[in-house]
Amino acid sequence: DTRIKYGPLIGSIDEGTSSTRFLVFASKTAEVLTYHQLPIPSIVPKEGWFEQDPMMILEAVKETIDVTCDNLIKLNINYEDIVAIGITNQRETTILWDPTTGKPLYNAIVWMDVRTSSTVDDILENGKHPQDFLQCLCGLPVSTYFSALKIRWLMDNVQGVKEAIEQGRCLFGNVDTWLVWNLTGGVQGGLHITDVTNASRTMLMNIDTLKWDPNLCKVFNIPMNILPQIRSSSEIYGYIFDVTKLSGVPIAGILGDQQAALVGQMSFEMGQAKSTYGTGCFILYNTGTLTVRSTHGLLTTVAYQLGPDKKAVYALEGSVAIAGISIKWLRDNLNVLNDVSESAEMAQAANEHGEVYFVPAFSGLYAPYWRKDARSVICGLTEETKPGHLVKAALEAVCFQVRDVLEAMTLDCGHPLTKLLVDGGMTVNDYLMQMQADYCGIPVVRPMMAETTSLGAAIAAGNAKGVEVWDIESMEAVPCDTFVPVIKEDARDVKYSRWKMAIKRSLGWVE
Ligand code: ADP
Repeated sequence: DTRIKYGPLIGSIDEGTSSTRFLVFASKTAEVLTYHQLPIPSIVPKEGWFEQDPMMILEAVKETIDVTCDNLIKLNINYEDIVAIGITNQRETTILWDPTTGKPLYNAIVWMDVRTSSTVDDILENGKHPQDFLQCLCGLPVSTYFSALKIRWLMDNVQGVKEAIEQGRCLFGNVDTWLVWNLTGGVQGGLHITDVTNASRTMLMNIDTLKWDPNLCKVFNIPMNILPQIRSSSEIYGYIFDVTKLSGVPIAGILGDQQAALVGQMSFEMGQAKSTYGTGCFILYNTGTLTVRSTHGLLTTVAYQLGPDKKAVYALEGSVAIAGISIKWLRDNLNVLNDVSESAEMAQAANEHGEVYFVPAFSGLYAPYWRKDARSVICGLTEETKPGHLVKAALEAVCFQVRDVLEAMTLDCGHPLTKLLVDGGMTVNDYLMQMQADYCGIPVVRPMMAETTSLGAAIAAGNAKGVEVWDIESMEAVPCDTFVPVIKEDARDVKYSRWKMAIKRSLGWVE
């Protein structure tokens, strides 16, 4: 009987920037039994703008749930054994909708969108305030990245939004909130909630009290009645309405995708850190129950709060906007490769001549620079440069940006990391992993189970009071591959200093 073999099952909705998936984990072994994945197309109406259709996200989530249930039937597993669902989502991405119609008032503005550049200038009153003037309240610098800027832009630029707010028919949510509202209540809507990790990315939550901060809302002039209720990351929030095959199943966990990866890596100890390589790249360093304010360009963020009566655990985060997406850009815009999976082989084949440095600053530069005026640069082209050199430079850029962040973490925390846990779509690339170990000078540890983000959301749901199929205290870390550094220190430093020269050019492009 499969119930005995696998134990109760936990579902995980993993709504990332490039695709959405629904995975089913066996509680006995934490293995993935089956999943279904659908791509989420991006809409680029103007340079630097990046939108997605909220209805398409919702329909894709429902379809992945239903197809996964069909997959379970084919495996002779009863989908009624799914006892809880967790959600993990792309963070900061902003949706406003009208609860009376259930329709979005505008497309979702995706986290990496930079249309809010002039909104940032407005909030900083054109240089009157330093970029970190709100850091004491929310742990974040004023940047195009965070939801508050996107909400402000929508209020200033979309006619329907202003009206809806005046008439009390506007709700705000990140993707987690949008999904829960729809999945728990059909067209009329259900719960309007979010979790502390997602709320910590809006710039509207006070990082110490974990409540919406009236002063922050005032700075952005955002009415507090459009904001969802903030809950812990692990509790039964509500039950799936009659919109998928899983009606009646509790939604019991919510974590932003980067925080979910930290939980999925079981980095529950202060001082542990992980790096997730997807569209962007995000390094989180567990600082325990302390809120460390960075003086080197890192964010203070909530890592998780695994129950309403549990203490929140915090992290320092280095966010890198452009990682895997630069390989896709080389594929789609420059046609230098046919498939991202060719990148390792092409980079490996590139000789030492024609060496180039590529700073991909499509959204400006995030951590630790926080410069929206940074521009992408490719330096060092020679007659020898071939497509493989560009691919290699794009992969190296990911590694150097991670090193930039790790150096900032060492400065903020006082002691360097001894190893880096990694995960995410790009980590299938062994060449990249070895290069990461080489350029940072510490071992890179990759779990054999690739789905740490989804597992993190499943752990949050499985650990919730009333579900209790998992106890994080007794869960064992998954087996891993380790990449150890092999290049010499001086070779590492020469490369890194050239990268810093390229960064200087990227920052100096627009005076
Ligand atoms: P997200 O969660 O942000 O949607 P994923 O974790 O699914 O992203 O990772 C997808 C990213 O990984 C894409 O940007 C893609 O270019 C990159 N990627 C996938 N396979 C490889 C590979 N073999 N080498 C380099 N990059 C890769």
